[in-house]
Amino acid sequence: MSKALRLSEKWFRRGLWLVAVVFASFLIGLGGTIVGDLPKVERPLQVDDFLDKAQARALRDTIRAQRDAEQDAQTALEQAQLQHRKALSDNQAERETFNNWLATRRVTERADHDPEVLERTRKLDLLKQAERQALRAVEAQQQAALDARQTAAATQRQLSDLESQGYARMQAERRKVELRVFLYRLALTLPLLVAAGWLFAKKRHSTYWPFVWGFIFFALFAFFVELVPYLPSYGGYVRYVVGIGITVLVGRYAILALNRYLERQKLAEAMPDAQRREELSYDVALARLAKNVCPGCERPVDLKNETIDFCPHCGIGLFDRCGQCTTRKSAFAHFCHACGTSAKLRLASEA
Ligand SMILES: [Zn+2]
Ligand SMILES: [Zn+2]
Repeated sequence: MSKALRLSEKWFRRGLWLVAVVFASFLIGLGGTIVGDLPKVERPLQVDDFLDKAQARALRDTIRAQRDAEQDAQTALEQAQLQHRKALSDNQAERETFNNWLATRRVTERADHDPEVLERTRKLDLLKQAERQALRAVEAQQQAALDARQTAAATQRQLSDLESQGYARMQAERRKVELRVFLYRLALTLPLLVAAGWLFAKKRHSTYWPFVWGFIFFALFAFFVELVPYLPSYGGYVRYVVGIGITVLVGRYAILALNRYLERQKLAEAMPDAQRREELSYDVALARLAKNVCPGCERPVDLKNETIDFCPHCGIGLFDRCGQCTTRKSAFAHFCHACGTSAKLRLASEA
């Protein structure tokens, strides 16, 4: 593709590569839209699908009920604690008053106070009783909260066991789904890859090469973006094996291409000078000369040395003399640079 030497032709070729890229990007967009509009073949997996649903629901209900019960017990506990504190302080206040009263009574020694002593003692007993009752209420709520918490924890453990079994089953199913998704994608991508391979082998130099290359880019994108990430891994085995396979294919293609090139080159070098010259395209010959290599065999030649008229490697004529004015000129030039005589005319007159 880079063999064009005319300036406009070079720019046209660059423009056509751009066409190839733009064509590929639109194909990629279209492909993405089609894939996006396809009905979703797999619904996402949920662990609940792999559990004994009734059992799981029962366990979850128990946990929720126990959590609620614990919450209620906690609220009741706060109330009971408040009541207990009140009873405690009532009791203390009454006892203090009573002690003061007793002290006063000892000083005054009044006998008519005896029934009041009894009355006050009885009242104190009642208060003490109320305090005990409040404490019992507190303890009962503490017990209820603890029971609820422990039941919830035990049920939670059961549920976790159940769920971890479910996760194991879901993992197995997920691997199957991965494989299925990969196969769907392979079924979509493989025809593209086959078509791209055929186009690369047969049509990459055709007149419509920008579209051919656009399609090849699109197929490569589909392969590396739409297919490779969905390759099931199986612990990396598949990826490495596929990588090795592709490298072997590409390497084999390159080795065969090199051998074909060498074969062609050998055949070409065995042909007579005039025929070789005819088979070389003018632009290719000029491009190789510009790189200081022989246009016939692509080996390096010193073109500045004026005593070298033939390639020392393959014998093709590099310089000759104009039939009109005998100026030394490139044998590949179509016209003499000194007098403008056509090289073809000279060959015709010689023949
Ligand atoms: Zn040569
Ligand atoms: Zn001339």
